Amino acid sequence: PTRTRFAPSPTGFLHLGSLRTALYNYLLAKNTGGQFLLRLEDTDQTRLIPGAEENLYKCLEWLGLENDEGSNNPSGNKAQIGSYKQSERADIYEKYTKDIMQKGQAYKCFCSKDRLETLLESSKKLKPKSSASYDRHCYHLTNEEIKAKEKNGEKYVVRLKAPDVYPVFEDLVLGKINFQPRFNYEDKRFDDPVLMKSDGLPTYHFANVIDDHLMKISHVIRGEEWVPSTPKHKYLYEAMGWSEPKFIHLPLLAGSTNNKKLSKRRNDSNIWEMKKRGYLPEALINYVAGYGWSLPKNENGSSIYDLEDLVKLFNINKLTKGNTKISPSLLEHMNKQHLLKILKSEKGINRVTDMIMEDEETPSYIRVDRTKIKKILSHVGETLDNWKDFVKQFDYCYLETDYNNEGCSKFKSNYEKSEIVSVINYTINKNNILLENKNIIDLIKEGLQLSDKKIIFETLRYSLTGSKKGSALHDILRLLGKEEALNRLRESLK
Ligand code: GLU
Repeated sequence: PTRTRFAPSPTGFLHLGSLRTALYNYLLAKNTGGQFLLRLEDTDQTRLIPGAEENLYKCLEWLGLENDEGSNNPSGNKAQIGSYKQSERADIYEKYTKDIMQKGQAYKCFCSKDRLETLLESSKKLKPKSSASYDRHCYHLTNEEIKAKEKNGEKYVVRLKAPDVYPVFEDLVLGKINFQPRFNYEDKRFDDPVLMKSDGLPTYHFANVIDDHLMKISHVIRGEEWVPSTPKHKYLYEAMGWSEPKFIHLPLLAGSTNNKKLSKRRNDSNIWEMKKRGYLPEALINYVAGYGWSLPKNENGSSIYDLEDLVKLFNINKLTKGNTKISPSLLEHMNKQHLLKILKSEKGINRVTDMIMEDEETPSYIRVDRTKIKKILSHVGETLDNWKDFVKQFDYCYLETDYNNEGCSKFKSNYEKSEIVSVINYTINKNNILLENKNIIDLIKEGLQLSDKKIIFETLRYSLTGSKKGSALHDILRLLGKEEALNRLRESLK
């Protein structure tokens, strides 16, 4: 069976890039009737960010990316697998560390920080970009020397005895990849990565491989930044005598303005912040789904899909290589399309009403009347680009109009007062014919023999709402109702 996992480190908050990784893992599992796991890779205790774990859970829940087994899921498979949080799996890693040392593929290293730093400096002089700097000093320690050091209470890490050449691996999207670290073999410097740190917790590479094996992961889908790690992982699988999962590395999501990789710390792609700015979960999902996968068009010629649709459509053969620039305007578009779709049903209107009611930024004079919100949404909700614009866009339905605001004053100074008054009076006098007529503007133009529609349009908007922007005039009239519209027209004459 297909088993995939999303394995974030709680070193930052969920962002668009990590959402896409989670999503593809989810989609592959669900499309093939498999399981989607959530594993927390928190062995680097120095890089933990407070709140990151909670942020992860609440984002995934909000997005609907539910896991079958995971660090926040009590109904998971824990009995067999143990915790889905790496920091709680130290005893498991200890066992495998012993195994790999027994096989002669890893060794204890007691070198001090100072010694390692000096080595690194001298390696950098030899080859500035070299990532490898260890001289394998401790590999040559005798058993007696090791015992003595341990007796002495000296701290150690466990290092992999790296091969001269790492194996080539096959990526399902990128093809064969041969990635060798730039170590200076001839300079007697080696890559020998640390597997186990002196705090008793493994590094990413070792924990990741052990867990993917024990959790029976069939496909590893992760960001392209992990490509250089995969040869090490493949080598570790071989060293442990385990079969490896299939690998898929996704092209990085690049910012639209600068080409910088999306960082977990930059707020513009932070999922929870985006939620607060009114992005819908289905829009974010639909949006990131298209980066690295060419979404097919539906019968309307668009690519608007919700999570369920995406599960049905997902196909790893349709994944694409290459960097992908993000496009904020596409996100706006998708958000609007999803809002339109949601507002088509009673259930959806209730859902958006709840969001407005629960949003702490919604003023209390709006929150007191749920029915009114629903009424507005069902009449003219389709004019919203984003549900967060509700307050700004429909404020006039709630508040007394301020006819002295900046826009109104400017408008008044643009025309003769008598012209404005005649438009308003005419509208009041003929309200029976005019207020419910879609052609209201044309009718007034004819009635008053005016050459320009602009003054009619502006006069009515300012008198009814105190603003030039907002919903169509016809919608405004519909929402206010005849009586309230007349009140406002009269009020604006004062
Ligand atoms: N912990 C890694 C991360 O934060 C996981 C990478 C992987 O999926 O192997 O992205």
